[in-house]
Amino acid sequence: MKIKRIAIVGGGNAGWLAANHLGVELSRDPEIEITVIESKDIPVIGVGEATVPLIRTSVQSFGISEVDLLLHCDATFKTAIKFANWMSTEKYGKDNFYYHTFDAPFPNGYDVNNYWLGNREEAYYSKLSPAYYIAEWNRSPKRTDSPPFKGMVNYAYHFDAAKFTTLLAANAKKRFNVRHIYETVKEVILQDDGSVKGFEYDSGEYEEFDFYVDCSGFASLIFGKTLKVPFVSKNDIILTDTALALQVPTAPDEDIFPYTKATAHEAGWLWDIPLTTRRGTGFVYSSNHMSDDDALKGFSKYHGIDIEKMNPHKIPMRAGYREKIWVKNCVSLGLANGFVEPLESTSLFVTDFCAGMIAKKLPLNTEELHLFAKPCNEITTHIWERVFDFIQLHYCISDRRDTQFWRDVTENVEMSSLLKERLEMWKYSVPQRVDFPSTFDFFHTESYLSVIYGMDYPTRAPSVNDMVGNFSKQKIAEHLVNSKKLADSLMPQRKWLTELKEYVAKNRPS
Ligand SMILES: Cc1cc2nc3c(=O)[nH]c(=O)nc-3n(C[C@H](O)[C@H](O)[C@H](O)COP(=O)(O)OP(=O)(O)OC[C@H]3O[C@@H](n4cnc5c(N)ncnc54)[C@H](O)[C@@H]3O)c2cc1C
Repeated sequence: MKIKRIAIVGGGNAGWLAANHLGVELSRDPEIEITVIESKDIPVIGVGEATVPLIRTSVQSFGISEVDLLLHCDATFKTAIKFANWMSTEKYGKDNFYYHTFDAPFPNGYDVNNYWLGNREEAYYSKLSPAYYIAEWNRSPKRTDSPPFKGMVNYAYHFDAAKFTTLLAANAKKRFNVRHIYETVKEVILQDDGSVKGFEYDSGEYEEFDFYVDCSGFASLIFGKTLKVPFVSKNDIILTDTALALQVPTAPDEDIFPYTKATAHEAGWLWDIPLTTRRGTGFVYSSNHMSDDDALKGFSKYHGIDIEKMNPHKIPMRAGYREKIWVKNCVSLGLANGFVEPLESTSLFVTDFCAGMIAKKLPLNTEELHLFAKPCNEITTHIWERVFDFIQLHYCISDRRDTQFWRDVTENVEMSSLLKERLEMWKYSVPQRVDFPSTFDFFHTESYLSVIYGMDYPTRAPSVNDMVGNFSKQKIAEHLVNSKKLADSLMPQRKWLTELKEYVAKNRPS
């Protein structure tokens, strides 16, 4: 039977990303109808404002212009994550930091790591990326004449999550003719073979579809509640399980930093995400290591705001993922599929990638569905397992031991055998592309290099011959001059975004 009616349950960013990806692939077939079902009574999560560069490709493929994204969503550019205080203050000083940039730490494309290992004092590792000074000097990664979706260095966006939802929804409805209804699914009705037959709504209506996408958030309506697909919990390795989220206004002329700031504290870390109109901030902590009161105190201290004047939104976080992303005629995406705390903005990343994968792999007929479930399930499991490795890496190689939380995450927590093997191997050799044979390791060489050497990982320095040594030294020196020059030639991000807004206001027909 031909797949004609597709239901997406959930009108959060996962649901609308899915609607756009499916729209791109399927909307040319007039027989196919995509419906997004959203409950008026169940709110969206309301956070998720930092992204990775894949979002640029996706937004562009949906037909959304970069200017619309920037202006509609109060968006800013993100070139990196700045990790502050993830190392011991005794050894690395108060306010120590490093960057994980979206550009490789390879000066002018050269791998100078073997030389750098024996000469760490010559350049602070994060400076090997061309984005270092752009980040430190709050510059825009784009010139005013840069083509849409292209910059002088690689970048993603920070955006207002709610405004991004409305942009995606408007695009899906207008461009791909996606049907949008407000109903609360009361019951998921199954067929005898365990596939989904239809939905009973609170309104008393009943509707059937051929294919179902569960984007119902942490409720996990189809995969959790109905199909009871096992949840692979990771709370034993990722100890942070709670977040307090708070939006704070910014002055219209305040500098906008082009990175997500991740500042470690006694029992977790804080996120700080700049938009053009406000900052989105959050206090992430392990509830086994810090009380809610102490978390609130820490958050209030970070902002310099009295506790009584703060009313953050408390969000419990469960780390892990559903054992399968695809079961019979259903897939799950977004929080309904899995989640790890937002240290590397992995949630929209995994959702975006998997929504694209499913849209591209969705077969024409229901009889063919079983052929696609297995490979997609295997790939998604791989993606999640490696994402968890990468998040855990930030904690387990820190030299902080100042609180029980840091002693636990560095000394008392298990890690996957692969991460253990890799960390052992990297004591004796630099991470290389060959260490990451799978295309589905979302984070590979460059990311691992940025994090492990940002945190001064003790890889044994190999002996480097004079020719390679002199060449590497010269490349690092040239790179430092050029990356400063590049940053110096770019506008402050605030100015760039303000000029864009003014230009559009003047030139766009009303
Ligand atoms: C603390 C925190 C910080 C985060 N930060 C980041 C970040 O910086 N970067 C990043 O990439 N991601 C981040 N995320 C994840 C990100 O917020 C989500 O991936 C993203 O918002 C997508 O959520 P969702 O659409 O899956 O779920 P939701 O936004 O929760 O949407 C669920 C939808 O399902 C609907 N629904 C539920 N039940 C029913 C029902 N019975 N009938 C009909 N409709 C129903 C609801 O109405 C809603 O529309 C963060 C998450 C948390 C918890």
